[in-house]
Amino acid sequence: MNHDPKHILIIGGGYVGLYTALRLQRRLRGSLRNGSVRITLVDPQSYMTYQPFLPEAAAGNLSPRHVVAPLRRVLPKVRILNGRITKLNHGGRTATFEPDEGAAREIGYDIVVMAAGSISRTLPIPGLTDIGIGFKTIGEAIGLRNRVLSQLDVAESTEDEEIRRKALTFVVVGAGFAGVEALAELEDMAKDSTRYYRNIAPEDLRWVLVEATDRVLPEVGPEMGRWTLGELRGRGIDVRLGTRLESCVNGHVVLSDGDTFEADTLVWTAGVKPSPVVNATDLPIDERGRVKATTRLTVAGHPDAFTAGDIAGVPDVTNPGQYCAPNAQHAVRQAKVLADNIVRRLRGEELLEYRHKYVGSVAGLGLHEGVANVYGIKLRGLPAWFMHRTYHLSRVPTLNRKVRVVVEWTLALFFKRETISLGEIHRPRDEFRAAVAADRRR
Ligand SMILES: Cc1cc2nc3c(=O)[nH]c(=O)nc-3n(C[C@H](O)[C@H](O)[C@H](O)COP(=O)(O)OP(=O)(O)OC[C@H]3O[C@@H](n4cnc5c(N)ncnc54)[C@H](O)[C@@H]3O)c2cc1C
Repeated sequence: MNHDPKHILIIGGGYVGLYTALRLQRRLRGSLRNGSVRITLVDPQSYMTYQPFLPEAAAGNLSPRHVVAPLRRVLPKVRILNGRITKLNHGGRTATFEPDEGAAREIGYDIVVMAAGSISRTLPIPGLTDIGIGFKTIGEAIGLRNRVLSQLDVAESTEDEEIRRKALTFVVVGAGFAGVEALAELEDMAKDSTRYYRNIAPEDLRWVLVEATDRVLPEVGPEMGRWTLGELRGRGIDVRLGTRLESCVNGHVVLSDGDTFEADTLVWTAGVKPSPVVNATDLPIDERGRVKATTRLTVAGHPDAFTAGDIAGVPDVTNPGQYCAPNAQHAVRQAKVLADNIVRRLRGEELLEYRHKYVGSVAGLGLHEGVANVYGIKLRGLPAWFMHRTYHLSRVPTLNRKVRVVVEWTLALFFKRETISLGEIHRPRDEFRAAVAADRRR
């Protein structure tokens, strides 16, 4: 191994960033100890979010703290900086780092890993920025949970039928993984919660799923997608296929099929696009705005820059002419090869090719309901739900988190789920401000 001090900079502490750093921390243990290698990871958050558990966190089956992994705790050999990389000059091997507080500064590096993931892909739809909420972060998942429950409180406490109907109407746009799982879990939770309300029956809740294509959950294949559609409709969910959201100004929803109605809550899960940091780099970008990757997970034309996950256009060698889909299944496996290739680069060895054939997917559709299509085995209902839980339990990082998740699921077998809305959490200073205002009035 070359004994010049080498600095590895990892941009993003999500799936790719965390798993790459974990493997490097283990494989480069000696070099990290003797100071010949340093690793820095930059992320605005101090934790990695296990996104497939966001729907369960929103439904109150899991505590928010247990679906995230604290970066400093799991990566003790890695320097963690909280803030954003806002510019990358790979030619000069420097990145501009903007910490959460204070002035931006330049960070020099030898090897960079671009793993900043994706953000929600939105469209210029009137009203969307005012009432829409995404479903990619723990803040959004918990905000949405509080929102749905507080809408039940609003409906129960008003005598105005219009306000009540609007409060009890929930719209989800986009019927992929995130949209279907979020809707199914939240609908299940809301229906379950109605037992504590005197004047809200489960049938009073209106859930609308709007999807521009003609199918739901393409990740589980056409047959299981059709089954999921039937299952959702059987639960009374109004699924609109081949339909687009045209406008939602002040909650007045207009759909492309001509229907209009009022809704207070609108969740936008209509796809993702690469993190905007890609546009502030000198790395090559493909026609879909992703960093151009090679099959060895280096950035095309840049042997010292690596990339993977949602931000990268990685050619799928098992499916020539196609790219790996943006999902966790690829992200974790790519991270392993990426970390090994960094070690190989440091040792001057030949890099490995990333090769993984998509094995299918599992999705949770609420308590005891699921759908799965893995290695061609198709399951639905309770067996699929069980598979969904065991698969994700095996994948969630750290033993500590696995134990906490199992304990929570076990407790849920004996006690009813929590249905408290802590909406106040999002406005912690309101009460104190009101007290100050009351004092001033005296
Ligand atoms: C609700 C939901 C459910 C899902 N369920 C599944 C599932 O069941 N199965 C499956 O295979 N996939 C699932 N996915 C997709 C999967 O979570 C993603 O494909 C995966 O997280 C991609 O990993 P990544 O490392 O590329 O990005 P991420 O995990 O999103 O990590 C990117 C990180 O980069 C950070 N970052 C962004 N910009 C900057 C910057 N400028 N500087 C520094 N850091 C930055 C972000 O804060 C983030 O921590 C789901 C996604 C969602 C939203």
